[in-house]
Amino acid sequence: MAVRTIKDIDPEGKRVLVRVDFNVPLREGIITDDTRMQRALPTLKNLLERGASLIVMSHLGRPGGEKKPEFSLSQLKDHLAKITGVKVIMAPDVIGAEVEALANNLKAGEILLLENTRYYGEETKNDPDFSAKLAKLGDLYVNDAFGAAHRAHASTEGITKYLPSYAGLLMEKECAFFDKVLENPEKPFIAIIGGAKVSSKIAVLESLLEKADAFVIGGGMAYTFMKEQGKTIGNSLVEEEFAVTARSFLTKAESAGVKVLLPLDHIVADTFSEDATPEAVDNVNVPDGKLAMDVGPKTVAAVGELLSNAKTVVWNGPMGVFEFDSFAKGTLDVANMVADCAGTTVVGGGDSVAAVNKFNLADKIDHVSTGGGASLEYLEGKALPGVVALKE
Ligand code: AMP
Repeated sequence: MAVRTIKDIDPEGKRVLVRVDFNVPLREGIITDDTRMQRALPTLKNLLERGASLIVMSHLGRPGGEKKPEFSLSQLKDHLAKITGVKVIMAPDVIGAEVEALANNLKAGEILLLENTRYYGEETKNDPDFSAKLAKLGDLYVNDAFGAAHRAHASTEGITKYLPSYAGLLMEKECAFFDKVLENPEKPFIAIIGGAKVSSKIAVLESLLEKADAFVIGGGMAYTFMKEQGKTIGNSLVEEEFAVTARSFLTKAESAGVKVLLPLDHIVADTFSEDATPEAVDNVNVPDGKLAMDVGPKTVAAVGELLSNAKTVVWNGPMGVFEFDSFAKGTLDVANMVADCAGTTVVGGGDSVAAVNKFNLADKIDHVSTGGGASLEYLEGKALPGVVALKE
């Protein structure tokens, strides 16, 4: 079911309350990466150009219901004015008479930026009174915060009970891509799942088992599976408590005829450190005393083979410790192959997105999600409360 979007409304002369995900990294008050603000721009500009006034709200960090200045949205005000090119007024609070007066006096083409929604504990408790007070600030509600859509909070879900509610353009795009790959993937569909832990990715693997034609399992999580297959894994990462789950996944995949590609060779080290000496192991088994830090060239070639005719690719989680330059090649090579793949390519989940950005490949991928937790839950097949509330 599709979401209602801002394309369905005439916002002229309306006060539009827009929930964005401006949870940007800050160092000493300076924004170190404004990607999340940039990704909300199409929605903000679209509404401004069509004659709306905007009341913009977001959370920032975890102030835990307290008005801590280091989490103040005022640190984003000047940058928001710069990238939108319009007047931005900073609200002294999130709700209350003073904020309501500012919202009422706002002119078309102006933005009122609210304080951090998480200055109130009621936000994360999805408190109905708090939702109703937020709703007083606008005539319409627009949610463009895909990154917060997996949380039923007052500003993402509760508020939709008090105002006509629509998805912003980013939210619409995120949902459209995930729905496309999950509901009706063009085949062959390859899922590349990596990262540190089986525990955080097993629900995605299970959920995609019925949909994918093949899995690539890489990163630290691969070694729990490999140990179950009777391979030696040296000192590589392992989650013994997930051994049974890993075995059961491999058995289910096998009986469903779904291919699972695990690392065929490795780049190992003696210790987990940035300056450890990388050593190539041209064997599926990891030698005693060694720690697998990345996949090797044979594995990369096998991934390339799978991707050569893939029509749909979902990638979540790096193939190795890509943060360390000596162990980034497997992830870089896979990122390049995903970028070059002719099929629909979607990258979701914090660290694979970080890898794609680090390698400057985001423009070559069909969709790079802005939501770490939200994209993970989408791929797990869970209904996201912030999205459900916008369904037609
Ligand atoms: P996740 O958040 O679960 O996607 O995990 C991402 C993290 O997994 C990154 O910080 C990687 O450095 C880490 N990682 C990837 N491969 C390995 C590996 N072979 N051993 C240890 N950590 C790894």
